[in-house]
Amino acid sequence: KIEITGLRKSFGQVEVLSGVDQRIEAGEVVCVIGPSGSGKSTLLRCVNLLEQPTGGRIVVDGIELTDPDTDIDAARTRIGMVFQQFNLFTHLSVLDNLTVAQRKVLGRSRDEAESVARQNLERVGLADRATAMPAQLSGGQQQRVGIARALAMNPDVMLFDEPTSALDPELVGDVLGVMRRLADEGMTMLVVTHEMQFAREVADRVLFMDGGVIVEQGDPAEVIGAPKQERTRGFLARVL
Ligand code: ATP
Ligand code: MG
Repeated sequence: KIEITGLRKSFGQVEVLSGVDQRIEAGEVVCVIGPSGSGKSTLLRCVNLLEQPTGGRIVVDGIELTDPDTDIDAARTRIGMVFQQFNLFTHLSVLDNLTVAQRKVLGRSRDEAESVARQNLERVGLADRATAMPAQLSGGQQQRVGIARALAMNPDVMLFDEPTSALDPELVGDVLGVMRRLADEGMTMLVVTHEMQFAREVADRVLFMDGGVIVEQGDPAEVIGAPKQERTRGFLARVL
């Protein structure tokens, strides 16, 4: 569960998030859409404090991340993040990509970390690529490794920032398929995406952001199919 209250973020004089309130229940899948520069990535990065909010509160599963007394590193292990650029360690094998944080951050033994890694590679359909180096994999496979790596930390919540935007079109489906299964399994997910079909079919709720605020939100069929706000209509007319 993610509770965002009055979230503000400025870079210098420029306010990028101007008061975002959002409550994402356990098991809920929320997709964020909106034009470039509207603050979608900043919102995600504030949720796990990769960016320090200028104002407001972030509470994940009852732990207030914005409380200066909170152990952020510990809290952050509960939040998985998947980026547009897969951010794999290029000098490490697939298996080592999945074990390094488990061992360093969670203190798991090599055996346990490898066993968890293999389970999660299986989950994303890459059980047979454990010994490969990232460069030997397609973009779609690399991104699925990125997802497996996040899952290996047993997060309560997964954040995805345009996970398929860097992929060739024919590789997008596999990654979305993995995300869809994760949603079906009940993972709490906050997903920034341009994949309107995915948002329609998988999201419980869609948020349309523009200018650092949530302009419109609700049922995907309504927000994408019958938007109420002029700004949402304008955006969808450009992307659909
Ligand atoms: P896109 O669809 O292009 O990914 P976005 O909605 O994710 O866009 P953000 O990346 O959140 O947008 O950026 C929102 C605004 O904040 C942009 O104007 C961007 O230039 C600015 N911004 C983001 N990060 C920084 C930073 N570290 N320093 C200064 N400005 C930043
Ligand atoms: Mg972005």
